[in-house]
Amino acid sequence: MSWERQINIKTPAEIKIMREAGRINATVLAKVKEHLQPGVTTADLNAAAEEVLTSFGCISPFKGYGRPPYPASITVSINDEMVHGIPHLKRKLKEGDIVSIDCGTILDGFVADSAFTAGVGEISPDATKLLEVTEGALHAGIEKMRQGNHTGDISAAIQNYVESRGFHVTREYTGHGVGRTMHEGPQVPNYGAAGSGLLLRPGLTIAIEPMVLVGTHETRVLPDKWTVVSADGSLTAHFEHTIAVTEGSPLILTVL
Ligand code: MG
Ligand code: MG
Repeated sequence: MSWERQINIKTPAEIKIMREAGRINATVLAKVKEHLQPGVTTADLNAAAEEVLTSFGCISPFKGYGRPPYPASITVSINDEMVHGIPHLKRKLKEGDIVSIDCGTILDGFVADSAFTAGVGEISPDATKLLEVTEGALHAGIEKMRQGNHTGDISAAIQNYVESRGFHVTREYTGHGVGRTMHEGPQVPNYGAAGSGLLLRPGLTIAIEPMVLVGTHETRVLPDKWTVVSADGSLTAHFEHTIAVTEGSPLILTVL
């Protein structure tokens, strides 16, 4: 999937607002993580997230997004579900599940976007490896977010990290610029050639989000028109941070 969108360079003052949005988003995700227990419904997780967002006077850009309008503030994607799972009153977490939680926060007109995947109770060694590789790929990508590099350096770092460990990266879903809206330019795929793409410069804010699959890179969308699953039913994982390119080291905005 490829698209062209406006690229917005942020001022230091705007990045400061995004850092606050990111801190709130991290607070939301930490609260949801506490609820990852067997028997908890995915609607309960959404309610926990909304309680935190409301306490800060914030909303998520997810609600009402797209066609059909996305109905919740977070996405909850379990096991073979890679991204965009819709919270449901009847969907309960089970021991051994791996659950990806994605959330956005809008503060004073700026968006932060972040996701993690974690286990419910004890998870298998294979699932543990998948989570480690996906989170490691996120940090391999972040490390390339330096002025003078190109977006392709981020993509290549993620792809190499994942594929050299025997896993697969999604082709259809990508990282993206973020800030004034949830999805701005540039698009940052999880695969690509080093040195290609947009030149990175201070003030760019990008959500880097490796989505990793065990079996093949192929996915499909469920009839609810949102939930993306691995085509072969094997496990998937997803980690994401919003990061600012600076004159020095990459600045991760979506941490506490
Ligand atoms: Mg996200
Ligand atoms: Mg994103």
